[in-house]
Amino acid sequence: MCGVVGYTGKRQAVDWLLDGLQTLEYRGYDSAGVQVVSPSGNLHGVKCAGRVAILRERAHTANLHGTCGIGHTRWATHGTPTDRNAHPHLDCTGRIAIVHNGIIENYQQLKRELMADGHEFRSDTDSEVVAHLVEEAWAGPARGDLAAAVRNACDRLEGSWALAVACADVPGELVVTRLGSPLVVASTDDGAYVASDVMPLSSVTSRVFQLDDRDIATLHADGSIDIVDRDGRLVSNPVAMEIDWDASAARLGGYSDFMAKEISEQPEAIERLLAGRLGKHGIELDELKLGKEELAALRHVVIIACGTSYHAGLTAKVAIERWAKIPVSVEYASEFIYDDDYLVPDHTLCVVITQSGETADTLAAARRMRGMGCDVFAITNVLGSTAAREADGTLYVQAGPEVAVASTKAYTAQMVASFLLALRLGFANGRLTRDEVEKHLHDLEQIPDLMREVLSRRWQDKQAARRFRHKGSSLFLGRNVSSATAFEGALKLKEISYLHAEAYPAGEMKHGPIALLEPGFPVVAVVPAGHVHDKTMSNIQECLARGASVIAVATDGDERVAKLCQEVLGVPNCPDDIIVPAVSVLHLQMLARYVARDRGYDVDKPRNLAKSVTVE
Ligand code: GLU
Repeated sequence: MCGVVGYTGKRQAVDWLLDGLQTLEYRGYDSAGVQVVSPSGNLHGVKCAGRVAILRERAHTANLHGTCGIGHTRWATHGTPTDRNAHPHLDCTGRIAIVHNGIIENYQQLKRELMADGHEFRSDTDSEVVAHLVEEAWAGPARGDLAAAVRNACDRLEGSWALAVACADVPGELVVTRLGSPLVVASTDDGAYVASDVMPLSSVTSRVFQLDDRDIATLHADGSIDIVDRDGRLVSNPVAMEIDWDASAARLGGYSDFMAKEISEQPEAIERLLAGRLGKHGIELDELKLGKEELAALRHVVIIACGTSYHAGLTAKVAIERWAKIPVSVEYASEFIYDDDYLVPDHTLCVVITQSGETADTLAAARRMRGMGCDVFAITNVLGSTAAREADGTLYVQAGPEVAVASTKAYTAQMVASFLLALRLGFANGRLTRDEVEKHLHDLEQIPDLMREVLSRRWQDKQAARRFRHKGSSLFLGRNVSSATAFEGALKLKEISYLHAEAYPAGEMKHGPIALLEPGFPVVAVVPAGHVHDKTMSNIQECLARGASVIAVATDGDERVAKLCQEVLGVPNCPDDIIVPAVSVLHLQMLARYVARDRGYDVDKPRNLAKSVTVE
């Protein structure tokens, strides 16, 4: 997510900092800021919500001078995107400035302690605690040693971070470190640089050094950099990386399109979403804003969504009904708003799922449900969006900015977010014990690695994509929880390859769509191990008997599928069938992308579609 930059050397820092931030814009962000150490030995900076272009104007007016400084683009996770919450953040003395990408998970605890010690906070961010922790260390045990002060502060942090720290008392020195968020440094004759990725650095050098988790690097004005590892040992030979891609490719972080990048970001997105969820009272889902009694009294859940989010809703239904034993209806928002006869039972919770939080149909449906007296809970990716502002509670899926129009990482994150909701409801109404919640959560934690395994098999999807050449249509089949995967796979294919795809619950095929089948007709069958496996196998046989070419999404080691089907997209064994959709769908995302590319289309900007559908 977002970006960190820093420079110390001979040139005016602000020029490169702003250029660097501009180059990092592709990562998506909502606010930006810079801070430099002035020649008089003070910190001066500007920051604002909105674009780097606005920041540039403000920096110009503020006339920032100094040869050492840090900059940031923020994608807000804690605190709305406002000027005040934009980074850099300062300590109480105004002599220490920090920028941070990531999430400090224990910030509430730290903030309480720091406030009790008299620290004054000026933002709602989690990040600001870092400035005050460095201040404490700097005033105490680490005086005169900025790297030691930063290490001391990081020892108290939980979560993920890429950090750059400047201190007016040591002008010309920057300390940077990371855990879980990327950070690269470069040493040149002009000075030393740091950035979240190589893109901003490609204009000043072709050689960068990647920091390892918990490495602490001190950047000096003469361009030298000292790196010390997590055990305090000097890293004398850091591993260098040569930058060998052109600037436009690097904007995508080396990926050829945003869809590819976002597909591959899914494991980290899920890790972020699941971090710190197990608490004393079972699952931590404070976002829900409903007390235990209100939750326990729920008798019905209505999920409202559109498009891909609707498919996440179908999986959510299975999870909530299985774990919380509460009946769930899933409705298309556009249908629901004009269904005057819709009956809403008492004690119904309305869950709206919307990637952008601005989907007009979904917003209208949520308002209608509120008007009927229901509590509304939003699952969305965009902080401060209308859905979030209007809902009684909001769970941010934290997938990070999604640039490609066809949703991938926001979809799987929505699914996993709804699993968390299901666990919370099940625990609140006594259907799940704490041990059961813990076990399910542990299963969910397997998702990122299972996804990584599927991602490593993208060659299977590339190969299977050839089956769609010169075809005008295709059929996607799945049963139960996998029918949602089939629906989503077909939608993805339609969205970006403009190839017609029909998705059906596998058992329904014989009631109509079977008439489409002819030799070579592509059928994608989602047939993971489980109680409906044999039934779906029968449907596959029906397709094969009519000469269709079957691409099966199947569990590793499924010999029957391997023997029968033309292509197999293998999914590793999952500890619970409920998580299979979040893993297997990655194959169908990659398949759609390969088919679209084969057909010569821009996968990021499909015709007629917008990222956020703000009209009815
Ligand atoms: N969690 C921090 C915030 O909300 C940093 C977000 C980021 O990575 O930009 O300010």
